[in-house]
Amino acid sequence: MTRAFNFSAGPAALPESVLRQAAEEMLDWHGSGMSVMEMSHRGKEFIAIHAEAESLLRELLAVPAHYKVLFMQGGAIGENAIVPMNMLRGKASADYIDTGEWSKKSIKEAGKYCKVNVAASGKDGGYTSIPPRDSWKLDPNAAYVHICSNETIGGVEYHWTPQVGDVPLVADMSSDILSRPVDVARYGLIYGGAQKNIGPAGLTIVIVRDDLIGQALPVTPSAFDYKQQADNDSMLNTPPTYGIYIAGLVFKWIKAQGGLTAMEAHNRAKAALLYDYLDATDFYSSPVAKADRSLMNVPFKLKDESLDAAFLKGAEERRMLQLKGHRSVGGMRASIYNAMPIEGVTALVGYMREFEARHG
Ligand SMILES: *Cc1c(COP(=O)(O)O)cnc(C)c1O
Repeated sequence: MTRAFNFSAGPAALPESVLRQAAEEMLDWHGSGMSVMEMSHRGKEFIAIHAEAESLLRELLAVPAHYKVLFMQGGAIGENAIVPMNMLRGKASADYIDTGEWSKKSIKEAGKYCKVNVAASGKDGGYTSIPPRDSWKLDPNAAYVHICSNETIGGVEYHWTPQVGDVPLVADMSSDILSRPVDVARYGLIYGGAQKNIGPAGLTIVIVRDDLIGQALPVTPSAFDYKQQADNDSMLNTPPTYGIYIAGLVFKWIKAQGGLTAMEAHNRAKAALLYDYLDATDFYSSPVAKADRSLMNVPFKLKDESLDAAFLKGAEERRMLQLKGHRSVGGMRASIYNAMPIEGVTALVGYMREFEARHG
């Protein structure tokens, strides 16, 4: 068996040691005689798995005590509706910052529940940079300000936390959560699907400040009501048990790597290898403004698009997979989440050089 270097944007590569441990424990978790998939979510075994996963996540992100950590379902796209249903709190509108494909989806969905004020947009610049804070037209009466901290498709990422006064800041962190330390107290709510940096698709993480919950719209499904889920330890409905178990193993792995400070250093080193090369050649290019380049998703283009297919074929032959860019942007995209080892990025840059030497 040989594992490929998997550059998929999501679902994405997981740490090999986590997959091995899950395989070993597949039939019999810790002498329980059951797979985690077969356990009652109310049994003592799963309750222990769940509690450990939550406590590790709290430790990694240093989540303050007055925040709830919820393990939900529905993905980040589900949250695009669940957030306004819970967070409007009697207010009529919310501010959204439009930085690309994922922001656009959030904006469109929120429009079903409230008036959406697009307070700033990167559209005119082709979504290649984050609009500077001083250009944002925020409404002090907004229910919240929504950002997407890392645009997985366009490859722009906030390397700063916006100041938004007393209005709660809400962030879709699906694709950069746990890639670096975050000051959770600066946010009212953080959410993300698990399948980029945490574990299997199906699990959705929500971290929300206590005082913001309990005022969901009456039509909110109970399973998507943060207060009801918080009061029931995320077990109002059956939670995605296997996803929570794998997430717990990934959290333990991140802790063993040295936590989020070490993770960030690792991610910076990987991204620098790629961006430094992209900046040193004319054969490839990065469309994104230097200050806003994502450490997780690196879109790049070949100068001669007619070579795209040959580039991808050669990459696959070398067991480097899923490098094709999103259909809305074209070109290539290398997603280099936490679990991508530096060897994978070194191999990619080596192949890019080799391809350039042959075709440049
Ligand atoms: C992947 C992704 C989503 C979509 O998540 P789903 O689990 O498919 O709902 C939303 N936002 C961002 C930033 C993403 O990377």
